[in-house]
Amino acid sequence: RVKDQGKNNYMFFNEEMTEKLKEQIQVERILRDAIKEDGFKLVFQPQICTYTGKIVSFEALLRLKKHFISPDLFIQVAEENGMIIQIGRWVTEQAIHQIARWKNKGLPLKPIAINFSAKQLNDMDYIKFLEETLKESGVEAQGLEIEITESIFLDKKEETIVFLNQLKNLGIKIALDDFGTGYSSLSYLTFLPVNKIKLDKSLCDKFLEIENIAVMDNIISLAHSLNLEVAAEGVEDIEQYKRLKVAGCNYIQGYLFSKPVEALEAEKIYEDNFLEKINL
Ligand code: C2E
Ligand code: MG
Ligand code: MG
Ligand code: MG
Repeated sequence: RVKDQGKNNYMFFNEEMTEKLKEQIQVERILRDAIKEDGFKLVFQPQICTYTGKIVSFEALLRLKKHFISPDLFIQVAEENGMIIQIGRWVTEQAIHQIARWKNKGLPLKPIAINFSAKQLNDMDYIKFLEETLKESGVEAQGLEIEITESIFLDKKEETIVFLNQLKNLGIKIALDDFGTGYSSLSYLTFLPVNKIKLDKSLCDKFLEIENIAVMDNIISLAHSLNLEVAAEGVEDIEQYKRLKVAGCNYIQGYLFSKPVEALEAEKIYEDNFLEKINL
């Protein structure tokens, strides 16, 4: 088989791998510099209440200040080389500081969400770090939500459940991110201490097709029957929004309402009514 494909094919893959490796090394260097030189920032994407059109919370998303590299890429690199531990702590700390600032300014918000990578389970003292950071900042655990994906259960199921219960006992909310991209998500929901599911963009996009509406209704009803809230991610379309609302989806996050923005901009748009803005 190898012979059939010929030498050129082999070369092609080889070059592709070299390119990938080069990219990885370059991203690694950028991340190392960013850790040293304060090169990261958080941006915040509003979560909007489906019924009122008002912002109820934000998801904190990581960015490199000086580079347009997608988090999907640099987070993966950071997971592979272990830098995610340090980066994850930075995100946690910065998000908590922001929660404190918004609390002091009197912005009533539901818990602000941060993303937590499966690899951060290797950070043995994370819970302790989290507790101390909350305490020092005068922020209650109830002000924070941690988003995990089901990939976290793949290799370390027991460990994960212990970890999530520790978070829950502190009073931190837990959301299952990227719901609908994996395999057996629905069964997880019955035994995990999760408060919210976030329907992935790829799933929400399917709800634009009429034949998938029953599926959406069922997922949302099932989540509600398990006492879970439902957020829809990547909503760009008004029809999509209307259907999600009819199906009872609690929160909407997407470019239809707002992209992720800097903290000061987030404050400026906080009072906006997004249903009015899109003429609904
Ligand atoms: P995620 O947690 O599922 O975040 C949602 C992503 O969808 C964000 O991409 C957001 O900008 C994007 N998005 C939101 N609404 C729309 C929309 O209407 N249309 C489209 N096309 N995209 C939309 P982003 O910020 O590039 O982040 C990508 C992923 O990187 C995140 O997916 C998350 O898995 C990871 N990530 C980002 N920040 C962090 C972090 O601080 N820690 C960890 N561990 N992962 C992070
Ligand atoms: Mg997320
Ligand atoms: Mg997601
Ligand atoms: Mg994602």
